[in-house]
Amino acid sequence: MNADKKVKILATLGPAIRDAAHIRQLVEAGVNLFRLNFSHGEHADHAQRYQWVREVERELNQPIGILMDLQGPKLRVGRFAEGKVQLVNGQSLRLDLDASPGDASRVNLPHPEIIEALQPGMSLLLDDGRLRLKVTGKQADAVDTCVIAGGELSDRKGVNVPEAVLQLSPLTEKDRRDLAFGLELGVDWVALSFVQRPEDIVEARELIGGKAFLMAKIEKPSAVQHLEEIARLCDAIMVARGDLGVEVPAENVPRIQKDIVRTCRQLGRPVVVATQMLESMRFSPAPTRAEVTDVANAVAEGADAVMLSAETASGDYPLETVQMMSKIIRQVENGPDYQTQLDVGRPQAEPTASDAISCAIRRISSILPVAALINYSESGASSLRASRERPKAPILSLTPSLTTARRLTVAWGIYSVVNERLRRVEEVTSTALEIAQAQGMAKRGETVVITAGEPFGQPGSTNSLRIETLH
Ligand code: PGA
Ligand code: MN
Repeated sequence: MNADKKVKILATLGPAIRDAAHIRQLVEAGVNLFRLNFSHGEHADHAQRYQWVREVERELNQPIGILMDLQGPKLRVGRFAEGKVQLVNGQSLRLDLDASPGDASRVNLPHPEIIEALQPGMSLLLDDGRLRLKVTGKQADAVDTCVIAGGELSDRKGVNVPEAVLQLSPLTEKDRRDLAFGLELGVDWVALSFVQRPEDIVEARELIGGKAFLMAKIEKPSAVQHLEEIARLCDAIMVARGDLGVEVPAENVPRIQKDIVRTCRQLGRPVVVATQMLESMRFSPAPTRAEVTDVANAVAEGADAVMLSAETASGDYPLETVQMMSKIIRQVENGPDYQTQLDVGRPQAEPTASDAISCAIRRISSILPVAALINYSESGASSLRASRERPKAPILSLTPSLTTARRLTVAWGIYSVVNERLRRVEEVTSTALEIAQAQGMAKRGETVVITAGEPFGQPGSTNSLRIETLH
C-alpha cells in the first residue's frame, strides 16, 4: 500500500488520460481519488473513465474514490450578431431577456432570476472577471449597466453576480440528469457547484438519498458567509478558488482558504484545496516556483487533499504533475515544523469517548514511535475523528464496507483496508496486527495502536485502545 504521504491528491480525469494503465500510473504516483467533471464530456466518456478506475482499484486491491462534479447553474450571456463586441469603459450596455443576437449596446441574458435579483449599484462580472459592469437601472425584463472595465466580450461568456443571492437551486435540469446517471454508475462522492445557502445542501441530499457522500464547493460569497452551517450539513468541502476568485476580490482568496480549512478541521469535515495549483504544468514539465509554494502552503495549513484540474484532465504532463505534487506534499510533511504547526492548530475535542480516544492516539504517537494507528470502523466516523487530530502516525482504517473505504480516500492520513465484519475487540487486535504487517505498514518489533468500539457497527462507539508490539 502506498501510504507514504498523509495529504491526499484528487485528480480530474479527461481526454489526456487515455486508458486504465494510465490511471494506474497516476495512482502509483500518489492519486487517491478521481474527479469526473460534468461541465465537460459526454456520459459515455464518464462511464468509460469510471470503469477504468474500478479496474485499477481491483488490480491494486486498494480503494480509490470517484467524485462526480456537477456543473451547477453556470450563468452565461447570449450570442452576438458578429460573434463578439468591444466594450469601452463608460459606455452603457443593456442586458435583457430578448433572445435575438446582441451588439455593442445590448445582449441577451437568458436568466430572469438574475435580472430579478440585480439592483442598481451591483456589479456583474463577465468572462472570468475580466470585464466588469455596474447596474445603473432596472426594468421588468432588462437591466441597464455602465461598463467599468471593458474589453472584448464574445458569445456565451460566463457571468458572475457576487453581490446577489439568486433564487436559484444549485441543481439545474442538466445537473439532475447527470446526477441520476452518476448515482446509477456508482460514484462515491458528489460535488455541488455554486452552493449559496444551507438549504441547497438539504435539497441535494434529498436527491442523492444516501447513495453517495456530498461535497460542497465554496465559490460564492454567500457560501463563505454560511460556511459553518453548510459544512455541518455536508460530508466534505472544496475551496473552489477558480470561481471564488471571480466572486470575491482575488486578494481575499488566501485568507478565505485559511478560514475554510480551519473551520473544516474544527468540524471534522475533510477539505480539498482546488484549482490552478500547478496550472503551468498543463503546458510545461516544470511548475513555477509560486505554484510549488501554493501547494506547499495548502499542505502546511492542514488541508486534507489538494486537487488537480486541467493539469491532469487535458494537460500535456498529467503524470509529471502528480509526481510533482506528491514530492511537494512529502517535502512539507517531512519538514521540521509540519507536525508542530498541526498540533498548535488542533481543534477542541468534543466530550465524546471517540474524541477522547482520538486525542489520546495523537499524544501516544508523539510519545512512542508508533508505526500505525489502526482503527476498526464500519461507517468511517471514528477514523475521521482520528484524522481530525492530525496524528503523527498514519491511520490504517479497517472496515467491512467498500463504500466507507472509498469515502475515506479524501481524508488526511487515512488508508483503508476492506476486510470481513468483526464482532469482538480481540478479533480486531489479531486481524489488525495481521493486516498492518501484510500491508507493509508495520514490521516485527514495531508498535501499533489499535482502537475499536463496542457495540460494533454503531457509529461513534469507539471506546477501546490497545498498544501492541508486533511479534
Ligand atoms: P470548476 O470548479 O472547475 O467546476 O469551475 C472549481 C473552481 O471553480 O475552482
Ligand atoms: Mn467552479
